Amino acid sequence: IKEELTEIHKDVWELPSSYKKEMLVPARLYLDDEGIKDLEDGAIEQVSNVACLPGIQSHSIGLPDMHFGYGFSIGGVGAFSNRTGVVSPGGVGFDINCGVRMLRTNLTEEDIRPVIKELNDELFRNIPSGVGSKGKIRLDNEEIENVLDFGAYWAVANGYGWEEDLEFLEENGKMEDADSTKVSDKAKKRGIPQLGSLGSGNHFLEIQKVDEIFNEEVAKKFALEKDSITVMIHTGSRGCGHQVCSDYLRLMDKAYKKYSLKLPDRQLACAPADSNEAQDYFKSMAAAANYAWANRQMIQHWVRESFETIFKRDAESMEMSVIYDVAHNIAKKEVHKVKNYETELIVHRKGATRAFGPGRKEVPSVYKNIGQPVLIPGTMGTSSYILHGTDTAMKETFGSTAHGAGRKLSRTKAKKLFNSEEVKNQLQSKGIHVKASSQPIIAEESPDAYKNVDHVVKISDRIGLAKLVGKVSPIAVIKG
Ligand code: 5GP
Ligand code: MN
Ligand code: MN
Repeated sequence: IKEELTEIHKDVWELPSSYKKEMLVPARLYLDDEGIKDLEDGAIEQVSNVACLPGIQSHSIGLPDMHFGYGFSIGGVGAFSNRTGVVSPGGVGFDINCGVRMLRTNLTEEDIRPVIKELNDELFRNIPSGVGSKGKIRLDNEEIENVLDFGAYWAVANGYGWEEDLEFLEENGKMEDADSTKVSDKAKKRGIPQLGSLGSGNHFLEIQKVDEIFNEEVAKKFALEKDSITVMIHTGSRGCGHQVCSDYLRLMDKAYKKYSLKLPDRQLACAPADSNEAQDYFKSMAAAANYAWANRQMIQHWVRESFETIFKRDAESMEMSVIYDVAHNIAKKEVHKVKNYETELIVHRKGATRAFGPGRKEVPSVYKNIGQPVLIPGTMGTSSYILHGTDTAMKETFGSTAHGAGRKLSRTKAKKLFNSEEVKNQLQSKGIHVKASSQPIIAEESPDAYKNVDHVVKISDRIGLAKLVGKVSPIAVIKG
């Protein structure tokens, strides 16, 4: 399949729609030579499969961190007409609204180092983590519906965080289409005990230091200062979102046959955008997305409380405000320019971060002239990045870019190759304090199990999908 690719601009590769007769549009991959060389053929095939789905617009997309996934590749975007297109749970993924939030502080490394162990222990105590971790609050059936319908608004109304936080969350932390009545009892039941928990594996809570600023002007607008301490939270909708995805995959598996859709891969199961099945999935997905925003909001609240306990000052005086919160597994109704006409589309981002450029109404007013902040985590042993969205992204990728480094080794392989104790000691020797709820996780999540994030962001920056603003490095990490 790689022989069929042509490099149409530097680092932009096109697979023509003639590659397969079912393809309605070309596929585009945003990778350099090395990225193409390392890529599994199967992942490219997946991007070409998405190009076969009804109502797909312009081109199906593989981003700089793309790799093989369920049906759709991870690091993929598919935008569909809201009239002739489809909605597909596989284009969103199992962890609905998995995402990243970043907080700033006015603290420096000198403030943090002397208390790092205490602070990390305090965070670990206050924020439930681990496989099947349970939150600290007891919701009832009615309350979970409010969480699903109102997202981060529910959290703030219930004392978790500040009203002004909401302005800096994608969708302000609440998708209007959410409808808790479309979420199964089973999904609600899984969601009730887990609200306000980090989960396991790739999910993390990290204290970081701003190492480098690439764009002073934009960094100032993001109030991101060199040498200051930041906090990053990565988690999603826990068992609730997973159940919503499973429930609707089962429904879609019937629906695509009912509507006689021809799919190149059954994992792309979907339904026409205007069908009841698609609309119910969308409402349920939006509800799970709200759950994830409430979850990150609660965790952030406990982060502030933990800092308050250790530093004996209030979070306001430490200027612990939200820089931004991005979703990287989600479908959205968005207006984009297609052939010069503004059109409402359904944009699926799976392992992809929205990277809206300047002027978009969705971008918070203080960032309006710049574009939204884009958060790309690396690993617990390497840098993570903050970038900003661009006009190029609006034209090329429906306003999207990569979402991480991307795994290089499977969890099983990583566990065979690395030893948790050794990885932990190595990190410790670099001044990175790691705490995990289970030891094997540290080996599975070893920095060497991931691709090079520096490389991913460099490609994004070079093509212009999202431009570099700053780089942070980890000081302390909590792994679920
Ligand atoms: P995903 O949502 O695809 O599981 O993960 C997103 C990205 O988070 C991964 O591709 C990886 O680059 C990054 N990541 C995973 N674990 C950590 C961690 O402990 N710290 C940081 N900073 N990034 C991580
Ligand atoms: Mn996740
Ligand atoms: Mn994620």
